[in-house]
Amino acid sequence: MTDTLVKIDFSKKPEEHPCIHNRWHPDIPMIAWVKPGDDFVVECMDWTGGQIHNDDCADDVRDVDLTKVHYLSGPIGIEGAEPGDLLVVDILDIGTLDQFKWGFNGFFAKENGGGFLDQHFPDAHKSIWDFKGIYASSRHIPGVNFAGIMHPGLIGCLPSKALLDTWNKRENALAATGPGLCAPCAPETAHMGQMKPDAAKAAAQEAARTVPPREHGGNCDIKDLTKGSKVYFPVYVKGGGLSMGDLHFSQGDGEITFCGAIEMAGWIHIKVDIIKGGIAKYGVKNPIFKPSPMKPDYKNYLIFEGISVDESGKQYFLDAHVAYRQACLNAIEYMKKFGYSGAQAYAILGCAPVEGHISGIVDIPNACATLFLPTDIFDGDINPNKDGPVPFVGGGMGVPISYWKDKK
Ligand code: ZN
Repeated sequence: MTDTLVKIDFSKKPEEHPCIHNRWHPDIPMIAWVKPGDDFVVECMDWTGGQIHNDDCADDVRDVDLTKVHYLSGPIGIEGAEPGDLLVVDILDIGTLDQFKWGFNGFFAKENGGGFLDQHFPDAHKSIWDFKGIYASSRHIPGVNFAGIMHPGLIGCLPSKALLDTWNKRENALAATGPGLCAPCAPETAHMGQMKPDAAKAAAQEAARTVPPREHGGNCDIKDLTKGSKVYFPVYVKGGGLSMGDLHFSQGDGEITFCGAIEMAGWIHIKVDIIKGGIAKYGVKNPIFKPSPMKPDYKNYLIFEGISVDESGKQYFLDAHVAYRQACLNAIEYMKKFGYSGAQAYAILGCAPVEGHISGIVDIPNACATLFLPTDIFDGDINPNKDGPVPFVGGGMGVPISYWKDKK
């Protein structure tokens, strides 16, 4: 039997768990020590720590406290790991828990969280996805069913004090240039794991939020970090301090819906090892990884292009964010022809194993992004043909059924 190193009591709040934290700081104490070569299981809460419920109302998404996220399990110390080493993490397996055979996707209200397409979808929305083995389907989004590619949205090692200072300095400088550009320190809702109260209070003033990906990995939301993959993380503190969470049942590239992929509580089985001095040996600045030999084998795609000209016709210079947004909007408009509401189509792009690519990034002035929509996940045929689209969802074209709740 593999050891369950981190066990979560889901009847308790995340703050009641010393094995959970929601900020990055070098002084957060290790919750356990393991040896190179050890493998073990870590249970994780969903990223919001249970704020989102399995029901048909999006009020919980609208009212979510985003200063609390992400709730991570760890940090775990690896004996012998020192700054300059690479921590090798084999993601051996990931799974759902018996009491949580469901997950959620949503997009935040523009006034609380917002997101990629909040100009087009300003209200909070939520869809619940049910898990049947490797498959996910949703009572809120009919006509679609796909194999999950479970992965941790967030995994990485603790930063050193110097690295933390670097993060704060550069992010504060950006934040000073305008509102909403960074997630500022929020000491009131910091949960610093096993730190003693006084030390925790002081450290929370400078502890980094978990929102952005950074040099240590962190919230990268890479769907390909699934079971069977192997990740090489830079180590910055003695023992490494590996933490993880934000488990996803499935996600489209870009996690465009922001709340988020198909979010779930679950467990992850990992094995750890060390490459001494690996950062310098391999010239590593950010984590590198090897993909899994296993992933959903969707071969048929409809691919949507987008260029760096926004919805109003404004020209941007090689802006991949604008280009990907256009590719996504083009896919949403297309899916609406088959009976989906815009919100449902948007959710599909956040949840399904959609591929996103930067196809061209040099042809001035337009970046070209592409969105690969797997066609085999749909109950109906969504390929273009001479006869025009045949809606297979809801009451037909123009009368999409929707279970979404928009409450103000
Ligand atoms: Zn997530």
